Amino acid sequence: MNEVRKKQIAILGSTGSIGTQALDVISEHPNLFEVYALTANNRVDELIQQARKFLPDVVVIANESKYSYLKESLQDLPIKVYAGADALTQIVTAHPIDIVLTAMVGYAGLKPTIEAIKAKKIIALANKETLVVAGELINSLAQEYRVPILPVDSEHSAIFQCLVGEYDNPIEKIILTASGGPFRTTSLGDLARVTKTQALKHPNWDMGAKITIDSASMMNKGFEVLEAKWLFGVDPSQIDVVVHPQSVIHSMVQFEDGSVKAQLGAPDMRTPIQYAFSYPNRVKSSVKRLSFVEYSTLTFETPDTTRFRNLALAYEAMHQAGNMPCILNAANEIVVSAFLKDKIGFLEMSDVIEQTMLKVAHLKTPSYDDYVATDSEARIFASEFVSKVMK
Ligand code: NAD
Ligand code: MG
Repeated sequence: MNEVRKKQIAILGSTGSIGTQALDVISEHPNLFEVYALTANNRVDELIQQARKFLPDVVVIANESKYSYLKESLQDLPIKVYAGADALTQIVTAHPIDIVLTAMVGYAGLKPTIEAIKAKKIIALANKETLVVAGELINSLAQEYRVPILPVDSEHSAIFQCLVGEYDNPIEKIILTASGGPFRTTSLGDLARVTKTQALKHPNWDMGAKITIDSASMMNKGFEVLEAKWLFGVDPSQIDVVVHPQSVIHSMVQFEDGSVKAQLGAPDMRTPIQYAFSYPNRVKSSVKRLSFVEYSTLTFETPDTTRFRNLALAYEAMHQAGNMPCILNAANEIVVSAFLKDKIGFLEMSDVIEQTMLKVAHLKTPSYDDYVATDSEARIFASEFVSKVMK
């Protein structure tokens, strides 16, 4: 029997939460998937360990100061070693790659995703910030180069799975579920005093620091509304957010006949990562099976945009469109990093984002260069507002 060609996968951000879980999926299916490239920002020792185990063709470290150590540590192996943001952006275009998993965090994912699309690679998209910042541009490039963008975010994977076989049946509504995060029941007064240690404890998911803070502030859900708009081509009015603390229903789609389809499973990111890799097939997985008896109560609530203003700000940015979501994202990256350094309080994050959205010039139809300029301008203003709040 002919051996099936293994899908060659490039992982951007292999040392992170999504990256390491993607490597678990690949380890479980060595007959289906192979690592072509591993990339990381800083954590060179983890990257070396991963490279020794998975023997990729290429590794890239974004932080150039770690290059010589990485190169020396892998010199006994036939692995090409590069460093720097440009190398990372170029590597995604390498001919053998089938799928690029964008598992790096933040705005830094935009450029490599664009290059991967232009090189006609299938995008397994975890880096939601790329769609938040430049969804319109990414969609038009994906159309031009006929590249599928397969969602890795659990909610969007759920929606994508609900849409299989629906062909031309229009979506009436997308019902995006949200866990509500660690502060779901915390009062506004108490939110002013929550610490980063509390915010970093997510009830259901073990994720990187940035997305964990975004989940606590519900900015993550705001980003996911934008992500859903671009991935599924729906109007914002067709996207509802419902808080579902058990995180068992990963999201739902309502159709024009009133039917609602949901995708369920134990909360485990390996499921959506694997589906993006194996699509359109499903392959065996060792993830824990869902026990309906264990989760005998599933509950639902309306999100509270008074306590979680970031969700309202994300809706506002989506309605204003153009470069406003890019401003939202840049300001958010600045405030999350300031909050993680104990420079500002939890609720002050929304104040700074709101002020930055009012300050940076709004452009209705931004080009790629406009996004780059908007991102740096918004970061400067947001950093200034952070220093004012600190005084
Ligand atoms: P993480 O912080 O755990 O890992 C981030 C990875 O990206 C690391 O490997 C890091 O080295 C790399 N990286 C960071 N900055 C970089 C830069 N400037 N250049 C190159 N590499 C860089 O983050 P994560 O939780 O794995 O999240 C990754 C992405 O996936 C985010 O966009 C997040 O929103 C999305 N996501 C994560 C989860 C989750 O469960 N963790 C779920 C849904 C979506
Ligand atoms: Mg999600």
